[in-house]
Amino acid sequence: MIVSMPRREVAGGRVARSVSQPIAKGSVVKGSLDFLRQELGEAGCGEILGLLPGRHRRLLLGARPTSEVPYDTLVVLWRAIDVRIGSAAPDWAERAGAYAIAELGLKLYGGILKKRSPEEFLTQSVSLFKLYYHPGNMEVVSHDARSAVLRLVGFPNASQFFCRRQTGGLLTAISLAGGLAPSVRHVRCALEGDAFCEWSLGWKLPRPDPKQPPRGR
Ligand SMILES: [Zn+2]
Repeated sequence: MIVSMPRREVAGGRVARSVSQPIAKGSVVKGSLDFLRQELGEAGCGEILGLLPGRHRRLLLGARPTSEVPYDTLVVLWRAIDVRIGSAAPDWAERAGAYAIAELGLKLYGGILKKRSPEEFLTQSVSLFKLYYHPGNMEVVSHDARSAVLRLVGFPNASQFFCRRQTGGLLTAISLAGGLAPSVRHVRCALEGDAFCEWSLGWKLPRPDPKQPPRGR
């Protein structure tokens, strides 16, 4: 028996098939592997890579900072790292995200990260997120001089490790942009049933330099 599908569902199927798979830039791979080498040494890093299916291992080892890697392959790597060091180092993913921004991120994207204030960093026209992941974006929902709320939109995240890396990376980014005593909280998470993943950011600003005359007089 042939059952014809309603037009709406056929159209939906076509849309679903045309959606591109999420990808990450090779710089995310390099940052993850460099962090792992720092934590476990070359041998420990090789040990974890050796446990992965060959297809994923080849993609990870062959990645260059500007090449594109399936996001799923990174999730496989992050899960393997968590199995190996998660119990001894429960904050590894946050630290890995911070490391990625402080090291390779700063080398590649220093002009985007080093701004006069966190607010200037967050509201610039260039999206740091889009330099690392596709599709989607990290959108600024609200901001003022000392706080902001960011929302992940359009990226099919499937990993708590992604969320935790963002938390650590954002903390470092705020600090590089001149924010003092930065704080980042992952206040809503799509993996826990919320509509979106959101991060609440806060920081303090340096006191004005007393040697500089006040502006606007
Ligand atoms: Zn989340």
